[in-house]
Order: sequence, then structure tokens, then C-alpha cells
Amino acid sequence: MKAVIVKKPGGPEQLEIVEMPTPKPKKGELLIKVQTAAINRTDIVTREGKAGYALNPILGVEIAGTVVETNGNETFSIGDRVMGLVNGGGYAEYAVMPADRAMKIPDSLSFEEATGIPEVFLTAYQTLYWIGKLQEQETVLIHAGASGVGTAAIQLAKKLSNAKVIVTAGSKRKLDFCREIGADVLINYKEQSFEEEVLKATNGHGADLILDFIGADYWEKNLASIKKEGRWVLIGILGGSEVEKMNLFSLMSKCVQITGTLLTPRSDEYKALLTKEFMETVAPYIERKEIMPVIDEAFPLDMVQKAHQYMEDNRNIGKIILKIN
Ligand code: NAP
Repeated sequence: MKAVIVKKPGGPEQLEIVEMPTPKPKKGELLIKVQTAAINRTDIVTREGKAGYALNPILGVEIAGTVVETNGNETFSIGDRVMGLVNGGGYAEYAVMPADRAMKIPDSLSFEEATGIPEVFLTAYQTLYWIGKLQEQETVLIHAGASGVGTAAIQLAKKLSNAKVIVTAGSKRKLDFCREIGADVLINYKEQSFEEEVLKATNGHGADLILDFIGADYWEKNLASIKKEGRWVLIGILGGSEVEKMNLFSLMSKCVQITGTLLTPRSDEYKALLTKEFMETVAPYIERKEIMPVIDEAFPLDMVQKAHQYMEDNRNIGKIILKIN
């Protein structure tokens, strides 16, 4: 089968399509004929050799496709359309997926749309609810609002909790889109001071919850934007990982809870539980098209280098898809 590997750690030019053996499903796994995979920042970090964990020589953590081998599993049949997280190996014509985290694709969704769900919606759901404990009508500040995770989080926070959603993004085009999918307060971080805008929008109290994809660059501004006893979930480090001269007392005096998380290296059991709860809670909204994956662009497999570059240039609103079969 065709698959994408990394020749050596580096830029998009290091991605290469090679012939690899079709994987064999182990106990508890399905074999999937992959229709579409999606690009994620974790793939870029892995390509650069900076991930700190190695899942699989083939890139890709999420796919949509059809089941071609059930391997004795009775929940799925050959031909079922499924989407879900894989332990690497997604940018390939075939991939194995633990059956307990395969999600049947609602009839209302194409393969391209379905691939836009697993990684970013599970991350958004996990960080808003499992870690962030978002409550009805609370205020959530979502950075990188037009990102894959951001577009998922805006919709979940709005539809599931009727939260007040404040977003930051770097252009009017991206902010306009965030408004269309439910964001209430739009802040262009390149032109406005986001902490001042958050305080204005919350009567000076700050946000109950922050989903932070930026990290170091936003440390002080996030501290200024969060409510006393607020929750702050550190999900990404697009703005760096080292905070200089951090004053721990300012965290203590505001009684802030900070939690860091990475979904990819979490255990199979954790991902299975998260997938199950997500499907029970959110699938009905997707079936009714009240919550939808946001797809920016679908690239054919042989344009995988361009697809990575497109993400690194911050051009996308929502997900970037790879068409495989
Ligand atoms: P994405 O679709 O590629 O969007 C990222 C956006 O962030 C960019 O388009 C850009 O939009 C903005 N951005 C980039 N660098 C920035 C900077 N230095 N300061 C401010 N904004 C910046 O991303 P994604 O796939 O949704 O992922 C979003 C983040 O979540 C990434 O950091 C990713 O690593 C992380 N993530 C974490 C987990 C986890 O389990 N912890 C899981 C999935 C994703 P603008 O034009 O608005 O600047």
C-alpha cells in the first residue's frame, strides 16, 4: 500500500510516499480502507522529530474509511463507514484502529467531513468538559478560534452549554467565521490587546475558562484575562514553551487551576472512554447538523507536502484533509 513517512526530521520536503506492507489488525483492532486522513499539528511536530514519542513510522492520527476486516469484532461489519483516532499510520491506504474508538459515521456526513471530527472534536470536548469543567452559561476564552480545535470548541461550548464564547484570531476573515459558528466576542490579537477586551466583555471579572493553544507568549495576558478561581487548560505551545521570569505568586493569588494535556500519548483506555462519551453526547447534534466539522481544503495524497505547508502558514480555517483512496 501507499503510505507517507518522514525521510529524516525536518520540513515538509521530508515527507515521502513509499510502498509499505498493509498492516495486520491485532486482537481488538479493525482494518480500515482509508478514504481520508486529516493533518494535525502533532504530525508536524512528529515530522520535525520533536514529539518525544514515536507511534508509528507512518504519519497520521485520524482517519475516515470503510471496515475491510472486523477481526471477530461484533460491533462492526465489513463495509461500515467509520472515523476515529489511530495510533499513527493514518496517511496510508490501509490502517488499523482499535475497535473501541471507531465511531460510525452519521449518514449526513461525507468521508471528508467525518475526518474533520476525531482529533479536534475529542480534544475540544475533553478540554472543555473533562478538564475545563465548563458549566452552563459560563464564559470561555478560546484562543486560535478559527483553528481546527477552536472551531470545534466554539460550537460545543455554545450548543452544549450556552456559554459566552470569546475568541481571538489573527484576521477579520477568521473572526467573521468564528461569529458565524457561534462566537459572541471577537478579538483580533494582532490589533487589539486581548486581555483588555476580555475584561471589558466580562465586567472586569475575566473568563471562567481559557483554552490556551499559545502558551508562553500569552502567559501574562492569560493571567490578566482569567477570573479568580478560573480554569486554564494548556493545549498547545504555538507561542513557545518557556515562560521567562514567571511569578508563581500571581497564580496563587488568583487561585487559578492550570492543567496541561496532550491527547496523542494518552492511553488506549482513555481514548476509548472519551470516544464513547463524545458519541453519546455530541453525535445527535452532528446527525441533526447542529454541530458540523469545519473543512478548509482537501488535498490529494501526492500533495501532502503542500498540505503541511498550508497548515504551517496558518492559512486554514478548520481542518485540512488528505484524500487517500
Ligand atoms: P490549526 O488548525 O493549524 O490552527 C492554528 C492557528 O493558530 C493558526 O492558523 C493561527 O491562526 C494560530 N496561531 C499560530 N501561531 C500562533 C501564535 N504564535 N500566536 C497566536 N496564534 C497563533 O491548529 P489545530 O490543529 O486546531 O491545533 C490548534 C492547537 O491545538 C495546536 O497548538 C495543536 O498543537 C494543539 N492541539 C493540542 C492537542 C492536545 O491534546 N493537547 C490536540 C490537538 C491539537 P491565526 O491566523 O488566528 O493566528
